Amino acid sequence: MINFNVPPFTGKEMEYMKQAVDEQKICGDGTFTRKCSKWIEEKTQTAKCLLTTSCTHALEMAALLADIQPGDEVIMPSYTFVSTADAFVLRGAKAVFVDIRPDTMNMDENLIEPAITDKTRAIAVVHYAGVSCEMDKIMDIAKRHGLLVVEDAAQGMMADYKGKALGTIGDFGCFSFHETKNYSMGEGGALLIKDKNCVEDAEIFREKGTDRSKFYRGEVDKYRWINYGSSYLPSDMNAAYLYAQLELADEINAIRLSRWDCYYQQLKSLEESGKAQLPAVPAGCVHNGHMFYIKTKDLDERTELIGFLKENGVMAVSHYVPLHSAPAGRKFGRFHGEDKYTTKESERLLRLPMFYTLTEEEVIYISSKVKEFYGV
Ligand SMILES: *Cc1c(COP(=O)(O)O)cnc(C)c1O
Repeated sequence: MINFNVPPFTGKEMEYMKQAVDEQKICGDGTFTRKCSKWIEEKTQTAKCLLTTSCTHALEMAALLADIQPGDEVIMPSYTFVSTADAFVLRGAKAVFVDIRPDTMNMDENLIEPAITDKTRAIAVVHYAGVSCEMDKIMDIAKRHGLLVVEDAAQGMMADYKGKALGTIGDFGCFSFHETKNYSMGEGGALLIKDKNCVEDAEIFREKGTDRSKFYRGEVDKYRWINYGSSYLPSDMNAAYLYAQLELADEINAIRLSRWDCYYQQLKSLEESGKAQLPAVPAGCVHNGHMFYIKTKDLDERTELIGFLKENGVMAVSHYVPLHSAPAGRKFGRFHGEDKYTTKESERLLRLPMFYTLTEEEVIYISSKVKEFYGV
């Protein structure tokens, strides 16, 4: 059986975790937490990276830093993971969903401006499959309307847009290191902060509302309760696991891209013959091989293909149920404009196995079964 996902493990994880244990610093902000943050700051060229306990929590920190208040509106796609909305809804905001583009499954940049009201405070973009949203246009809209931009770059590490790392273009960027992502620490994430002036507040939110981060650096002689906050600082053991992969990030990225290209080559006849569609990567976007998907004719065909692949030892999975059609989405959000693509395209999308230890032979086998299904 070829699983849909295998969590990344490169070999040095246990050694680094043992090192964290031996240093008797298994809580947060130890050696490996600092190493990971520094690595990400250098790689992405951002002012500050704070490791967090998840991307969900990085998004929550972004909502706190943006000072989102009850009644505020945040524009986002409906085709996304629940966390994009949760972070803002927890602060009392309303999620205003707009439709996606069928080529990238990203929020359609042309539909954002019509959804802006006097209550709109932020735009939360999601870079689906590590393929960037049209950020030039989105940043321009944000600037003209005085809105903050939060990037849910959960899937976007090592991908960029016109030479800029995803997560560094908006005011705040959020990465995920969940086991299903390209680089993992089990559960974990990172918050990227563009404006250095926000860093102190961010550290306080992450440390239960205290200035303990300053205390650890020896900048204050005792730490105190400064503001409200929560516990968003991951254990150094988890950071140690992640660091082993960051050291090999270029290799992991190259392998993923090569498997992605292999899928594309193997399956492009399906697109050419109009039987199924393959992902698009617009000019200016460099993706990271996070995901390979195909789009079937409709929901029934997808269900049939999932069954056929399963019979042949391949686990393929569908993805998000659009948030606006879910119970909480109806309660906490509204869809602005017409749902032309969100529901329809979400029912067609099928994710094929993708992880960095997936072999080329496996990709060729999976592709051959997909082609067999379509009789090509
Ligand atoms: C995985 C994912 C998240 C959540 O990440 P966690 O680290 O599990 O909290 C949020 N948004 C998107 C788009 C994701 O793919």
